[in-house]
Amino acid sequence: MLRIVWRHASPAYRRIDRAAGFRHFIGMVTILDRSAPLDRPRHPEKADRPETPLLRKPDWIRVKAPGSPVYRETRDIVRQHGLVTVCEEAACPNIGECWSERHATFMVMGDTCTRACAFCNVRTGLPAPLDLDEPARIGDAVAKLGLAHVVITSVDRDDLADGGAVHFAAVIRAIRSASPATTIEILTPDFLRKDGALEVVVEARPDVFNHNLETVPSLYLTVRPGARYFHSLRLLQKVKELAPDMFTKSGIMVGLGEERMEVLQVMDDLRSADVDFLTIGQYLQPTRRHHPIDRYLAPAEFDSFRTIANAKGFLMVAASPLTRSSHHAGEDFARLRAARAARPGA
Ligand code: SF4
Repeated sequence: MLRIVWRHASPAYRRIDRAAGFRHFIGMVTILDRSAPLDRPRHPEKADRPETPLLRKPDWIRVKAPGSPVYRETRDIVRQHGLVTVCEEAACPNIGECWSERHATFMVMGDTCTRACAFCNVRTGLPAPLDLDEPARIGDAVAKLGLAHVVITSVDRDDLADGGAVHFAAVIRAIRSASPATTIEILTPDFLRKDGALEVVVEARPDVFNHNLETVPSLYLTVRPGARYFHSLRLLQKVKELAPDMFTKSGIMVGLGEERMEVLQVMDDLRSADVDFLTIGQYLQPTRRHHPIDRYLAPAEFDSFRTIANAKGFLMVAASPLTRSSHHAGEDFARLRAARAARPGA
């Protein structure tokens, strides 16, 4: 059975398209063959892309090796609860450090994403139906890990009428019920063309609403082709309009080929949307078929971005080669609250 799933068209899919006789779906539609064997590639849309050489990592990209006793405990709790983490799915370099502090970022609604961003290591394809027991298991895992602050993200679920908003809200409520003292940060998809979805999630009252812009607008068509820069920006602005006291957060990766001035423009755009917290980290290429790294930025360049972003008025800025949205999210949340409290008129 052939299923039309999402907007993207690599040469591989155009071939499937032709073979299937679906000549009218040009350019913006991907067709997945559901009769294909289960060992299909993790990123079928990238299968025909040329391999690019991986740049040698500079000395400052150093990470702690996974394997401490607490790391293993965290991994066991994740496995026992049948949960998915973005730490593993995105091959995050910080997993050794974060899991040794029991800090795992849960990825809800499955391990398969309906988008096909050029930078992302998460599996792509047609996801399984929602697991309605997942919110309760997440709540239980958060309580067992004793988390003061938790970050919840998800795959994109363009296949669902609400983009997964009701499920996201259910996860927030389940955590509140199982672990009332835990503060909750969510990192959501863009809910593009899902009217009313954002309102459902905001109504569940997470403490921090994060949605990453990921890159500068000029790179959207190559890096994040299924998304729209101004839609993502508007989403963040709307969160503030719906819940003025909710913290908002967004982040970008650098090293994808953006110009410095474009990064400064993104900062201004985010301030116009009243975003509180900005993260900037180095892009790392998951495989040779993902978007190539244009360059590794030196730590001093991140320092400079941090200084400028602070001057532009963000409450908090995290900028370093290994900064990720969820890295040190608990400590950063405490500092975010303190920064708001210290602002004149707070
Ligand atoms: S930075 Fe975030 S995604 Fe990476 S290991 Fe830490 S919690 Fe997981």
